[in-house]
This record gives sequence, C-alpha cells and structure tokens, in this order.
Amino acid sequence: MGYAKCGDCGQQMIGSTSCTFNEIQIDGQWYKRDTEYYDLGETCHDCGIVNEKGNIHHFGCDIERCPKCGGQLISCDCEKTRVCRTTNANGKGKTICG
Ligand SMILES: [Zn+2]
Ligand SMILES: [Zn+2]
Ligand SMILES: [Zn+2]
Repeated sequence: MGYAKCGDCGQQMIGSTSCTFNEIQIDGQWYKRDTEYYDLGETCHDCGIVNEKGNIHHFGCDIERCPKCGGQLISCDCEKTRVCRTTNANGKGKTICG
C-alpha cells in the first residue's frame, strides 16, 4: 500500500498504531469497529497499525472485519456509509467523516 495517509484520521498509515475513527455506519446503524486480533503484537501488513486489542485498522485495510456480518470489511455486501470518532466517553459526541 505504500506510505499513504488515512483519509479519515489523517495519520500516515505506516507508523501509526491505530486509526482514531472507532465507529462505522453500516446499513444506517452505527457499529464499533472490529478490534480483535489473533496475531497480537504484529504490524498489519496492509495498513501498518499494531495488532493490539482496541486498535483499529485504517479504513480500506483488507484485514479489517465487518462488525455486522463478520466478513472482510472491504468486500462484504453491507452498505458502509461513513466512519466516525466518538469524542466523549458516553459515545454521544461524534465527529463524522465522509
Ligand atoms: Zn485512520
Ligand atoms: Zn490493517
Ligand atoms: Zn458486512
């Protein structure tokens, strides 16, 4: 993938440990993005994040799983509308991207 920047959080994909946009809207519903990893401590081969619980792939990564159907996020049939970052702990404030 090279040294692209994430279109959501604006970080360099290589060298950032996690995307900061933690929710995704699918078929009109907001979901927490998948943060479960099997190969903990590894760097994602596609988007460069560190695989640790709580870390999020940058959108478009071929490893990220869909929180609705469990399939590969970039190829499943769910309607992905946009991602957002919650700006306070109770999840009420959202910064929406896309
Ligand atoms: Zn990102
Ligand atoms: Zn990734
Ligand atoms: Zn899906």
